[in-house]
Amino acid sequence: HTEFNIDTIREDFPILNRKVNGKPLVYFDNAATSQTPKQVIDVIVDYYSNYNANIHRGVHTLSQEATDLYEAARLKIQQHFNAKHSYEIILTSGTTHGINLIANGFTNLLEKGDEVLVSALEHHSNIVPWQMLCERSGAILKVIPMNEKGELIIRDYDALLSKRTKLVFVNHISNALGTINPIEDMIKKAHQVGAAVLVDGAQSSPHIKPDVQALDVDFYVASAHKMCGPTGVGLLYGKEKWLNKLPPYQGGGEMIDQVTFEKTTYAGLPHKFEAGTPNICGGIAFGAAIDYMNAIGFDAIATYEHELLDYATAQLSAIEGLKIYGTADEKTSVVSFNIEGIHPYDIGAILDKLGIAVRTGHHCAQPIMDFFKIPGTVRASFAFYNTKAEIDALVEGVKKAKMMLS
Ligand code: PMP
Repeated sequence: HTEFNIDTIREDFPILNRKVNGKPLVYFDNAATSQTPKQVIDVIVDYYSNYNANIHRGVHTLSQEATDLYEAARLKIQQHFNAKHSYEIILTSGTTHGINLIANGFTNLLEKGDEVLVSALEHHSNIVPWQMLCERSGAILKVIPMNEKGELIIRDYDALLSKRTKLVFVNHISNALGTINPIEDMIKKAHQVGAAVLVDGAQSSPHIKPDVQALDVDFYVASAHKMCGPTGVGLLYGKEKWLNKLPPYQGGGEMIDQVTFEKTTYAGLPHKFEAGTPNICGGIAFGAAIDYMNAIGFDAIATYEHELLDYATAQLSAIEGLKIYGTADEKTSVVSFNIEGIHPYDIGAILDKLGIAVRTGHHCAQPIMDFFKIPGTVRASFAFYNTKAEIDALVEGVKKAKMMLS
């Protein structure tokens, strides 16, 4: 695609032709999982048709070809996120895996009384592993609070930072509200007190091309399945100095140098963190997904998605009794809302009857729901293959649901 042409883009996604409950599918659950273009599906079919073999072991041709494709994908990922070295890219099963790998690795690097900061806007997968780490290490978990708009309160963050702070965890974009957090500023400030920062890029990587070196971030994690790739694969970027300091996460094949029953030595980066047979096809398809998104272009994607967000926000806000949660000045592609007196689940069920896929519930972010004193929201999240006409269908659907349920 040389320019952004929504019609040709939509033709790339076979699933957008399907009907749900007799209606054309309107897919607004992109923050949970994005859809897959045929360019990526073709790579998956091609892999299993022509290259399927285990990697890094065989002398035989298939194994070497599969290894070359997998390592080529690592290079694509390195380039896309602008890591200095390809061995700073660890292929994981997804964001959750990457976070747990780091949280586990810090167990013996923290001391009782050390502090770790986590933002109030986190997904459970960027809360629970750190709570477990604090239980193991005796470190103390502190929360960077947010305001009514769903923005982090940066002066409170400044006040929380001290020489005791060892780690800071923040997502680049909140999955529940769409808030874009000021990670550049937060990383700089954390480094001033000597703390390392992990950025959860699960929600930002589909919308913003990050530069991990420019950000100077210590760790960055994301999932392929939110970036037009398959499930079960993702990346962990870590600065070389940190990855060398951290112990392996899982033991097994692939991650060793020498094994005897007396002592095992570990492989170098990245293999030290890649025990066992990985999602080989998934990694290769992740590379294809990155190529696909870059061919469209992240600037074009951001501009178009912003139009969708503004349009949806205006149209939905005009519905009486509808309240949007998350009204940050900097936000992307997510409208989280409720209608007074109606349970979000009931709205979601009626929308599904109309072929419209949204997420309802707490979005794996219960502390955010507690903050607003609600059980959950209806969340519509947009991707670059959505249209204003689909938003019109959503708005009509929400009006219908409101009429039926009030
Ligand atoms: N963090 C955020 C902000 C997310 O939105 C998600 C997925 N909803 C995750 C982490 C977890 O990603 P995964 O399930 O792919 O490991």
